[in-house]
Amino acid sequence: MGSVKPGLIAVVGLILLGCEDRPPLPPVVFEGEHIRYRTFEPEDEVCAGSFFMQDAKAGYLKDVFGTETNVDFSWVPDDRYFDYCPAPSGCAIESEVFALRPFNEHELAHGVRESAFPPLEEGLAVYFGGGSARDVAPMGTLEALLQPDVDVDDYGRLGRFVSYLVAEFGVFEVVALADDVPRGARPEEFEAAVDSRFGAPLAALVADFEDGYPECQPISYRHDQPFCDLTPILTLPVPGVDAPTVEQEFSLRCDDEGTLGTRSADRSRYETFAVQDRGLYNLTIMATPASSGSLVVLEQCGTSCFDEVFSSVQEFYDHESVCLDEGTYLMRIKRDDGSAGGFNFSATPVGLC
Ligand SMILES: [Zn+2]
Repeated sequence: MGSVKPGLIAVVGLILLGCEDRPPLPPVVFEGEHIRYRTFEPEDEVCAGSFFMQDAKAGYLKDVFGTETNVDFSWVPDDRYFDYCPAPSGCAIESEVFALRPFNEHELAHGVRESAFPPLEEGLAVYFGGGSARDVAPMGTLEALLQPDVDVDDYGRLGRFVSYLVAEFGVFEVVALADDVPRGARPEEFEAAVDSRFGAPLAALVADFEDGYPECQPISYRHDQPFCDLTPILTLPVPGVDAPTVEQEFSLRCDDEGTLGTRSADRSRYETFAVQDRGLYNLTIMATPASSGSLVVLEQCGTSCFDEVFSSVQEFYDHESVCLDEGTYLMRIKRDDGSAGGFNFSATPVGLC
């Protein structure tokens, strides 16, 4: 989960292997507009969305960050992983991303841009790419924000602080702040940059964040573009007398450009649905055929912790009378049984809320 830049590479290189001795990168199996995808696996082991959805994500991130950097994304197997990457699960070394899984949005967010002051850099990567399930910090937030050596336990808190800054000042101001403070910046320089860009001392912002920004989980605040812009599989009918049940099946075929993951293990995909009018709905999202390794992550798009955030992570989703606001909802569905099975989505409007 680290973003490693030249100074650290040199140190790690001395300890582990020496930069020149790093083994060659895996071969390129896909060349997109924004990423080159590298792996030792056969090309058809990689589900097509790992290429196309990551290419779309990298393109989106380049736009937001105002960079032209294309990423070399290497999916490396367990037994060779530490030949490339000193951090567990994934790392970005300049624009070279190494990951244990066939896709990794968090590391893409590091890879497309010059690294910022580390706590801000990790907060941005969590906000734009996920990668933290936890929102707990063992130490005070201000200390965590000024500590260049980021503790992985702070990632969730840092991501939530970035979501607070975005809610208060807008995403482009926060990106501009990151450009003000490169990786090697000193903590005092970070504080000065915050003060000059936002017109308030960092300590005052942290106090406001602690007092006034509600706790919410990373899936509730994360920035899930461009996936929230996918064409909705359904628009739910407006609640009212005789409003019909709507239903849609979708599959996780590996050659579908929306399916992330691998042919023989985990597969997942993003889908959206739209709600035209706030109302109560009975919602069901089920793996078909049923699979004990299925997971449904459901969230409303474009929300911060200031909103009444709707989000859910469950093995399957089957709920009566859920109150949904007007808007777009993102589902990430996953099954790890290596099958091309899919999911069934159904919704019945039942009333007002
Ligand atoms: Zn990271």
